[in-house]
Amino acid sequence: MAVSAQPAPLAAYAADPARSRGRRHAEPSPEWRSEFQRDRDRIIHSSAFRRLEYKTQVFVNHEGDLFRTRLTHTLEVCQVARTIARALHLNEDLTEAITLAHDLGHTPFGHAGQEALNRCMEAYGGFEHNLQSLRVVDDLEQRYAEFDGLNLCWETREGILKHCSAANARKIGDLGRRFLERLQPSLEAQLANLADEIAYNSHDVDDGLRAGLIDVSALRELDLTGRLFAEVEATHPSLSHRRLIHETVRRMIGVQVGNVLRTSQAAIAAAAPDSIEAVRRQPAPLIRFGDEMAQQHRQLKRFLFQSLYRHHRVHRMAVKAKRTVGSLFEAFLDDPGLMPPRHSRRARTLEDTNGRSGRALAVADYIAGMTDRYAIAEHERLFDPRRLT
Ligand code: MG
Repeated sequence: MAVSAQPAPLAAYAADPARSRGRRHAEPSPEWRSEFQRDRDRIIHSSAFRRLEYKTQVFVNHEGDLFRTRLTHTLEVCQVARTIARALHLNEDLTEAITLAHDLGHTPFGHAGQEALNRCMEAYGGFEHNLQSLRVVDDLEQRYAEFDGLNLCWETREGILKHCSAANARKIGDLGRRFLERLQPSLEAQLANLADEIAYNSHDVDDGLRAGLIDVSALRELDLTGRLFAEVEATHPSLSHRRLIHETVRRMIGVQVGNVLRTSQAAIAAAAPDSIEAVRRQPAPLIRFGDEMAQQHRQLKRFLFQSLYRHHRVHRMAVKAKRTVGSLFEAFLDDPGLMPPRHSRRARTLEDTNGRSGRALAVADYIAGMTDRYAIAEHERLFDPRRLT
């Protein structure tokens, strides 16, 4: 497929900033940028975005300088998604904004932190990181004079909220509708979702090999990686181990992107949606892998789950992370005065309107915003009596 290096005119099924459903607080249109470019810029200037640098993807931040962090993961997702967006004539600015914001709600310590916080919040409505990403951009970032949050466009917020429980979907009005009525999100949102999977499956193979937690011989047994390792070795028989891995991971991204492009292009041609509303009414996502690639992708995911995410070393770190998050939560819930004044004031305000659930929410928001190293330091300051503050 020939692809122009320049952004092409938008397809009829792409999100059009001129026809956006708008922002929660009306604002004049930007002078130099499209509405979605403005969203992207606001996300990059947010403090939640800067904190991604010190949040875990799989490996805790201090385990090594070369592992992916949430920030580098986010950039890889963005880059994969933009390539596909441009080739399919989707809105590249919206795709960029959604992908850059997609993990803003993640807790410190990756999935372990998220699980721990969810358990702590069980009696108070639970904790969902997708919903938290939306809360970050809707409320928690407080920087603008005229509104709380970043006041992003409806389409960007739609894309950020990838999953949502039915209970929470009922509480968030228009944006929750699609989870209750089984509508699809925009193609840009579907793409952000799939690019996330392509990026983490590929970089977790790379990071897992680097950490020595998985090995090439196991990857040779899998359909996708087995084929690619064999292909690289056949063309370059005397390649060093490091280059062999990089060349294979690079091809993993390439073949997955190519597969999504071809499959989605055919699916879009068959469904022929003439507007973003027609996309939303489709029975299934149009941005997808072909059946065979989907199967290979699931096989790789299962392998990573069993061999990497449940590896003894990852598990031990996860247990420590959960304990850290759990004890921070307990201490702050018991005595919100232990939190910095801005957060303890917020706990009091929310408690006045929502009782103990309000207090718990303020605590969860404070913890979810922490980076790995901040959570570790805060835990030391709270529990180690030798520390002064
Ligand atoms: Mg992600």
